[in-house]
This record gives sequence, C-alpha cells and structure tokens, in this order.
Amino acid sequence: PLPVLAVVGRPNVGKSTLVNRILGRREAVVQDQPGVTRDRVTYEANWAGRRFKLVDTGGWEQDVLGLDASVAAQAEFAIQAADAVVFVVDSKVGATDTDEAVVKLLRRAGKPVVLCANKVDGPTGEADAAMLWNLGLGEPHPVSSLHGRGTGDLLDAILDVL
Ligand code: GDP
Ligand code: MG
Repeated sequence: PLPVLAVVGRPNVGKSTLVNRILGRREAVVQDQPGVTRDRVTYEANWAGRRFKLVDTGGWEQDVLGLDASVAAQAEFAIQAADAVVFVVDSKVGATDTDEAVVKLLRRAGKPVVLCANKVDGPTGEADAAMLWNLGLGEPHPVSSLHGRGTGDLLDAILDVL
C-alpha cells in the first residue's frame, strides 16, 4: 500500500491550495469561506518519482461543534490514518490557540510532522515563518501554496519522513 500523507490545519490556511499544488492540478476545492472541504478527500500524488496518498481535510461540522472541536476532530481522524502529517499554518496570522491544540494532538500521535508556514508569498514573509519555530515542531518551511514558492523544499522534507 502507498504511504499516506495527511494535510491538517485550521480552515482557510491554504490546505486545499497546497494539495492542488502538490497534485499539479486543481482538484481540491479552494474557497475564501472556511469549511468548504467536507470530510476528508484522498488523492493519489506523485513527487520526484514517489507515489503516495494525499489526504485533504476540511471544517466539517464546524457549526455544530465549534471551530476548535471541529478542527481537532478532523485532525485526530486524519492523523490516525496517516503515516506522516503536513501541518499547515497561516504565517500571516501566526499561531493561534487552535493551532496550539493541533500541536498537542500531533505530539501525542508521535507521527512525523512537517511544518508548512503557508502564505509566504515573498521574502518579507520569511520573518513571519520564522516565528513558527515557537510551535516546537522543528523547522517551519516557508511556502506560498498560491504561487508555488518553497513547495519543492517542503516536498523534499516530506519525502524524507514518509
Ligand atoms: P483551506 O480551508 O485550508 O483548504 O484553505 P484554501 O486552500 O481553501 O485557501 C483559503 C484561502 O487562502 C483562499 O483564498 C486561497 O487562495 C488563499 N491562499 C492559500 N494559499 C495561499 C498562499 O500561499 N498565499 C496567499 N496569499 N493566499 C493563499
Ligand atoms: Mg480546504
């Protein structure tokens, strides 16, 4: 079976945009409104000759459970089923309480985590990305999923742990 990589993070941080970038096509639904990816969607991806399953997660039941509980529940399911995780954080917003809650889940799960500091669209965003060292998950990889900046380095780091 192919290794499974789960993409987790708060709504609107750019998970689906990153998934599309990795797939090289627009398959995951991207929207300005949070909570668009209902449930988990699995794609088959290929990078540098390596095939793996890529799981996009969304903000389902957000209205019922509230944001924190919804993100945590999504992340927990996805982490359980994954061999490795890409944790996406919006570097323009910085780490929120919800992000910290997901970090706790990730620590408990003990699976390899690659930290994606997303929305670093240019060099001025690098300082925002560096702030995410504070999450204690190792190196934040500065990425612009929208423009493709840094995604090659991110994928190389992912393949190292997958
Ligand atoms: P998700 O809810 O985490 O799946 O986030 P989406 O992929 O749907 O993206 C949410 C919004 O963030 C959309 O408006 C995207 O265009 C935007 N976005 C995603 N990645 C980037 C990025 O690298 N830079 C910028 N500036 N915007 C981004
Ligand atoms: Mg999405």
